[in-house]
Amino acid sequence: MAEQAERWEPGALVYDPQARKVGEYRDSTGPYAMLRPVGGGREWEADPALIRAVTREERLSAEVKAANARSREGALTPHRPDDTDRPPAAVPGCVTCAELAARRDEARAAFDGSAETDANVLLRQHRRREHAGAPARRRIFRYVPYSIVQDATAEPEYEACCVSGDEADCGAGSGPRHDPAEVEEWQRRHTQETRHTRYRRNFADYAVMEPPR
Ligand SMILES: [Zn+2]
Ligand SMILES: [Zn+2]
Repeated sequence: MAEQAERWEPGALVYDPQARKVGEYRDSTGPYAMLRPVGGGREWEADPALIRAVTREERLSAEVKAANARSREGALTPHRPDDTDRPPAAVPGCVTCAELAARRDEARAAFDGSAETDANVLLRQHRRREHAGAPARRRIFRYVPYSIVQDATAEPEYEACCVSGDEADCGAGSGPRHDPAEVEEWQRRHTQETRHTRYRRNFADYAVMEPPR
């Protein structure tokens, strides 16, 4: 009799020590936990008694790996810098390349053959200067599309500071508060007591970068 295994939510990332990899928990089939590679792929069967929650590092590396696999699928054909027969291609992610390629496309659209050739020459030169050497694969822009979301575990903070005064600011402050109404109340009281009327207000919250799921 196997001991009661931990329950996982579908989609939870877990580490399978037998397969030695991180997978996305799908569901249970008979005695197995069904896991899927992060970012998709064929499911595999894992022993539910052995899998455990991923560490932060494991989660990140699995997600980066999946994102990189996705960008490789968008197959960028490796460019050969010395190939002068074909028009040079823009290297993805490079602003200069994009600009020269756009200039070339405009010229082509306007049937301006010499302008098109000029743009190609410039692009080829630029590529030789800036993009020669390392294999094309390395040019893939490794971009993980994080979402920026407010951190729900930390309350936003509001604060007002009195900046009234001729020579120097008064400097009195409400201190950080979680309720903006408290800050306003402090301001009213301070103005009543001092006739000071100018405040600097700060708002702070915390944001976390969420990797794509
Ligand atoms: Zn470039
Ligand atoms: Zn003041």
